[in-house]
Amino acid sequence: MRTSTKTLALTDSTQATPGHSLVLPPLEFGARAEVTTDYILAMLNDDPELLALEALQPTPSHTKVRRALRELVDEWLDSGLDVSGSETPKDRNFEESPKSQKALVSFSKSGGLLLLPHGKTFSLYFNDENLPLAFDGNGFEEIVRPQIAFILLSGLRERLAKCRKCNTYFLLKYLGKTYSRGTKCGICNRASRSENSVKATASVRANAVATLHKLAATRFQKKLRGVASWQKDKALKAAIAEYLNIQIQRSDTLRPIYYTAKRKGITGKWTAQDENWKGINKALKVAKR
Ligand SMILES: [Zn+2]
Repeated sequence: MRTSTKTLALTDSTQATPGHSLVLPPLEFGARAEVTTDYILAMLNDDPELLALEALQPTPSHTKVRRALRELVDEWLDSGLDVSGSETPKDRNFEESPKSQKALVSFSKSGGLLLLPHGKTFSLYFNDENLPLAFDGNGFEEIVRPQIAFILLSGLRERLAKCRKCNTYFLLKYLGKTYSRGTKCGICNRASRSENSVKATASVRANAVATLHKLAATRFQKKLRGVASWQKDKALKAAIAEYLNIQIQRSDTLRPIYYTAKRKGITGKWTAQDENWKGINKALKVAKR
């Protein structure tokens, strides 16, 4: 059975978003199970509080239910991934989610979804009367079917995401976006942003240092080549520093690095520091005579 993704571009009434034309009536879960967005997230993430509640009825079937739900959810979420690892939640589809497709059909055949009219509207009612109890050790697949249906009939369909770095399930803030390296949770996103800015700062600094070495080598090449160990020549080091400080003040990229609240340019001592002495000598070798 093929279901067109377009006709199923639904959202529940609490999470209506532009671009989705059809607003679903409220979803109501049966009397026995309380299925909400928080509950689904707790199940997917093996939330410690939920596990503590489940431990009151210790049987392996709880674990099986959570594992089976994760399998279906992962298949659905991964259908929005392309081969390059880029992720577009609105491209999730049933062609690439055969297990969810089967679960939905089985669930609808079981008659578990009822239309309950009230007032001016009606609810989609997930009838859990005939569901097996999670803790009797069997039927975990039947328990998971209404849960995946709940996800696919609600805004979770597009909003639910898995962090591709730490595997935590979470809700996306924005809909309709493409994530070039997959969806990432808030914590991993902040971590990679600060990692990137540290890397960027390091490369700006490395470039600045290399520029100074080159400037010194070009301007002082005759003198530097004429002295056996120039790093011991105080006057020459001072002259290099003076020249470099003028260049630094003229440059918009160098100035903010070497002229700060704590730092007032470079000193003669700087030129003789191991890293700079070696760097200037290296630049000297390639400098045009
Ligand atoms: Zn993460």
